[in-house]
Amino acid sequence: MPGWIEQVYLERVGWDHLEQLCNIDNRLPGTDGEKSAAKATERTFDEFDAVETVVETFDILRWEREKCRLSGIIDYSGFEAVALPRSPSTMASGPVIDLGYGMPSDFEEEAIENAIVLVRSDNSPDSSRTIHRREKYCRAVSGGAAGFIFQHHKSGCLPVTGSIGTDSSPIGKIPAVGTSKELGERLRRTNGQELELSVSCHTSYETSRNVHAVMGPDTEKEVIVVAHMDAHDICSGAVDNASGVATLVEIAAALNRRINELETQVRLVAVGAEEVGYVGSDHLADRMTDIKTVVNIDSVAARPSLQFMTNGFEPFGPAVNNVLDRTGTSGVIIEKQQPYSDHWPFVKRGIPGLAVTNTPPAGGRSWGHTPADTLDKVDQRCFVDHAIALTELIVEIANDEFKIDSKTPSEIAQLLVQDGAAAGLRAVDEWDFE
Ligand SMILES: [Zn+2]
Repeated sequence: MPGWIEQVYLERVGWDHLEQLCNIDNRLPGTDGEKSAAKATERTFDEFDAVETVVETFDILRWEREKCRLSGIIDYSGFEAVALPRSPSTMASGPVIDLGYGMPSDFEEEAIENAIVLVRSDNSPDSSRTIHRREKYCRAVSGGAAGFIFQHHKSGCLPVTGSIGTDSSPIGKIPAVGTSKELGERLRRTNGQELELSVSCHTSYETSRNVHAVMGPDTEKEVIVVAHMDAHDICSGAVDNASGVATLVEIAAALNRRINELETQVRLVAVGAEEVGYVGSDHLADRMTDIKTVVNIDSVAARPSLQFMTNGFEPFGPAVNNVLDRTGTSGVIIEKQQPYSDHWPFVKRGIPGLAVTNTPPAGGRSWGHTPADTLDKVDQRCFVDHAIALTELIVEIANDEFKIDSKTPSEIAQLLVQDGAAAGLRAVDEWDFE
């Protein structure tokens, strides 16, 4: 067994880092917790001889929750309802209108003006594309709704969270609350009766960070690997995405021993502020030139199978297949655009980007964005297997024999239209193309 593989199995550098991140209470962008995660990651990167560590900072709007209450038909201020980050601090009342999955057609069929819209967090099985939470929220706002309730689709009294703001549109227009499946079902049974939503929160401008570990030869182009350090405040963010950052650390440890095999410079970047619209990675994409490829690791090691989305860059498929075969890792390759998470700021600029995540269970997201995203959901054996496969993949795409071309932004726009993903970006006013 090569020494670097033995090291991944026995030294637990990545797993120790994962535990450290999960012991931090709140890693929402701009908080002290996110800063501690960045410090811990910088310290860990510094331990590797072959790494040059760089930290960059940028401004971010910090949003902190205070109270959240539902009253009227029911009176509720318990743990099964939480304000969605970037909700405004305000109250609203109106009849509850149930829009089911909250597909675009659901919004076309019902009058929602001045109503409190209730939608599930998952997508209809008939939907050919991902309908993101922000798309449902923006459709509620455009339809004149007074408030927005996002109901978790899985049982277990777990409220679901997720930001409704981004860097360009930091605070939403109407109050937004995430509920458990059970509380949402109760609201669904009161369809049409008046409910009052009240959200209070605090905002301030703070600093977020990207922590870079630069390795390998000084070449003109480089391979960038990103994973976001921030997480939601209602959970440990173990799978989403301490798992990705810990994998990045394990890759750094492995490449530290394989440094002579790298033919292109590799820049591993633990980025901040993904959960509020990929702000750290957008900051990075804005500054870096001469990028060969970007690989984004977001939510791995919870289950054996990995999913690789190529965003229409064909050379990724054979490279991933080679590595999966060689390492005996199970995985699926999807040759589609996936305009969500940290590869997107690069892909929309035409840079080849690969999105790596756990293959989602039927019905979508698992424990992520709920209080149950805790350390016990990360599997140690999957963690080791994924770290080994992804290290192999990075070495392979850093190899001179791996050739991949950038696309123009208009080619990306065409692919988005072809894949049906354009409508979702237009609905949230993030269609950054002509
Ligand atoms: Zn994530």
